[in-house]
Amino acid sequence: MKRKIVVALGGNALGKTPKEQLELVKNTAKPIVDLIESGNEVIIAHGNGPQVGMINLAMENASKMEGSTTPEMPFPECGAMSQGYIGYHLQNAIREELLNRGLNIPVATVITQVIVDKDDPAFDNPTKPIGAFYTEEEAKKLAEEKGYIMKEDAGRGFRRVVPSPIPVDVAEKEVVKTLVDNGHVVITVGGGGIPVVKEGNSLIGVPAVIDKDFASEKIAEILDADYLIILTAVEKVAINFGKENEEWLDKLTVKQAEKYIEEGHFAPGSMLPKVQAAIKFAKSKEGRKALITSLEKANEGIEGKTGTLIINE
Ligand code: ADP
Ligand code: MG
Repeated sequence: MKRKIVVALGGNALGKTPKEQLELVKNTAKPIVDLIESGNEVIIAHGNGPQVGMINLAMENASKMEGSTTPEMPFPECGAMSQGYIGYHLQNAIREELLNRGLNIPVATVITQVIVDKDDPAFDNPTKPIGAFYTEEEAKKLAEEKGYIMKEDAGRGFRRVVPSPIPVDVAEKEVVKTLVDNGHVVITVGGGGIPVVKEGNSLIGVPAVIDKDFASEKIAEILDADYLIILTAVEKVAINFGKENEEWLDKLTVKQAEKYIEEGHFAPGSMLPKVQAAIKFAKSKEGRKALITSLEKANEGIEGKTGTLIINE
């Protein structure tokens, strides 16, 4: 059966350094190409936390060096760089894996802007830490000079924080659709997309981080996908996670999932956005299903053998 599947890759599918990542993506490509080989249409989304952090920090340090000619790199540009570099590695590895199996299918990355609402309440309460750690004094200076919002991060020093707004639309959606409809494999909304706000005909990049689980859900809805598969480091979602009475779940109805969220079973910033994205997708249209499982188990998961399936019934 041919299904349209948006696959959201987590941090464990990528690497912390370019060298490590170029190796790791060879493994990441295998389950993805398995899905393609089985006849599915596959669209790939991914996170970028460590990568955009690395780029941001490197540019920051280089621009701060005495006599430096390196300009300051705004955060949306750092996001674009991370999309480009991660996309390059993924398309390189997926292309090779396809060719190794005799499949001649074009693969490309679309540098993707994701539209957010300038009135999103997230802009009043920045929560995502990015970049280097600073002393209180340095933090104050940065706040004054650059208007950054600086917050103490778990006793380790001060860091800049940026908002995490909700994705509203994908600027390049027609391009992605056209490529997918022509049977091409597309990597899109990397790192949740480059956050932009609309002003007339302009899209203006803003220093913010869109959750990749929410952006993946958004593009899955836009593309009318059948499945949203969120691949991460765990095979299933658990309730009482890490406790003695931990229970791994095979299936979650939207109602159950909402109840478990209320009871606080899913950690904010890690499992919570995945379950929320899964619920949103399952609710968005009849027949849509979401699956949360590990990268290695993606194919068993789609066959119903493992993972946590989230459905609206
Ligand atoms: P990714 O990079 O894939 O987004 P995250 O670290 O953000 O990964 O989220 C996945 C992690 O969430 C899992 O590896 C697990 O440690 C953690 N987690 C938190 N709560 C739960 C839960 N209830 N069930 C399963 N995993 C959970
Ligand atoms: Mg995450």
